Amino acid sequence: MTRKKKQFDVITIFPEVVEPYVQASILGRAQKAKLIDVRSYQLRDWATDKHHKVDDTPYGGGPGMVMKVDVFERAVEGVRAQRKTKGAKGRRVRVILTSASGRTFTQKDAKRLAKYDQLIFLCGRYEGVDHRVEEHVADETFSIGNYVLTGGELPALVMLDAIARLVPGVIEKESLVRESHGEEGYLEHPQYTKPPVYKKWKVPDVLLSGDHKKIEEWRKENRRP
Ligand code: SAM
Repeated sequence: MTRKKKQFDVITIFPEVVEPYVQASILGRAQKAKLIDVRSYQLRDWATDKHHKVDDTPYGGGPGMVMKVDVFERAVEGVRAQRKTKGAKGRRVRVILTSASGRTFTQKDAKRLAKYDQLIFLCGRYEGVDHRVEEHVADETFSIGNYVLTGGELPALVMLDAIARLVPGVIEKESLVRESHGEEGYLEHPQYTKPPVYKKWKVPDVLLSGDHKKIEEWRKENRRP
């Protein structure tokens, strides 16, 4: 059975921030192996004025600029068209808006979203994004934590990374078993590697014992709740 390549699209005014990260290490290898296909897009390409304006002043007044709904909508449609996914039957596509006021992204969301064929991430900047994007363009809105960043690129990469590593073949299946934030709700037990003693800092004796039953018990007892 041939696997469908999982598509990730990031729409941003700083595509150059996204590209180096997804070309490195595990995600880079996964792209070369055609397990995932990550692309980033310049939002300004969908602006219609000669200055490629993607923001405007907020209704009701206040500081800063708000990113425009029409530009984001055209961008999403444009990306769907480029990927030839517009109206494609049976394809599962999800549009995800990054926002400090969204629901907090969890491992459970990563698992659920890993089942989609294509994920399109929308990155805000400035004072944020016109609320109509959340209401009419995005399917889901996520925050990555209770703090405010300057833009949605890092949140998009955080989510993309958490989802992409769950795509079959991207990392060894064994590594996904019993890791933190899994079904049982525990965090992983502490891990150690060589040397067994560094300065006066010792690896617990049981891990050097070779007794797999005892090691298993120790790991269970030392999972963090
Ligand atoms: N005025 C907004 C507020 O108070 O909620 C903050 C806007 S922030 C400076 C600009 C953009 O960064 C947001 O539109 C969003 O895309 C992104 N962003 C900032 N913090 C984030 C977080 N914790 N999670 C997800 N996205 C975030």
